[in-house]
Amino acid sequence: MANGYLCEDCEVATWPTTTRSELSWLKDRVHVVREVAKHSHGGLDSWMMEGLSFLNDHAGHSVMLVSKR
Ligand SMILES: [Zn+2]
Repeated sequence: MANGYLCEDCEVATWPTTTRSELSWLKDRVHVVREVAKHSHGGLDSWMMEGLSFLNDHAGHSVMLVSKR
């Protein structure tokens, strides 16, 4: 089972290698994580960078958590 984010406005998805609960955590705290990312140089996990860049690209859009087999 893969978990990811789907942007309903753009109809594109991303599938970082992590759990649904981690993705949910990141989505709820994207403003905090965005600040942390500015001050850490390559210090974030790759799934977090991947998720964050998707959420940045689709800021203000309707992004939801999705799963696929
Ligand atoms: Zn979008």
